[in-house]
Amino acid sequence: MRAEGIAFRPLSAFTLNKAQFCLDNGLRLIEGWIKVPYSWQAGETASHYLTQLRDEQKIWGKRCPKCKKVLLPPRKSCPFCFVDTDEWVEISSEGVVEAFTIVRRDTPIQPMKAPFAYALIRLDGADTYLTHVLSEVNLNDIKEGMRVKAVFAENRQGAPLDIAYFKPSDS
Ligand SMILES: [Zn+2]
Repeated sequence: MRAEGIAFRPLSAFTLNKAQFCLDNGLRLIEGWIKVPYSWQAGETASHYLTQLRDEQKIWGKRCPKCKKVLLPPRKSCPFCFVDTDEWVEISSEGVVEAFTIVRRDTPIQPMKAPFAYALIRLDGADTYLTHVLSEVNLNDIKEGMRVKAVFAENRQGAPLDIAYFKPSDS
């Protein structure tokens, strides 16, 4: 059976395990993929952030007037206090890996070919984390607390991947 928008492909080892589970339990397994193109109005705050990435290769956060946290990515309102933010703060392009995970399976929506790492990065001057990819690093060498710095894309589009990736600060 084939339906529009669903394409069947060879089963991965992970899927084979799921298939065996289904067989063992009298269930059916249907695998497919969905691609959902969309447009998103970035809004005033994110637009400024993305334009600064593209044009100046600068990273800006916003400070909450109540709790004083510097939010990155910048937010129009503080998710902790629910008040509007009002102060732009330039953030360093260097920071610390607070947590990370290794992606070992390719999917069409990932920004890099697996294996690669996603990290929660707290840039110097920010109180929240930026989720981004790591590159130019041996995956076995990634550690919590590792210092990293942003590498900007050559062809910037005013999009989150204008920071192409982060790499170790000492490389
Ligand atoms: Zn706040």
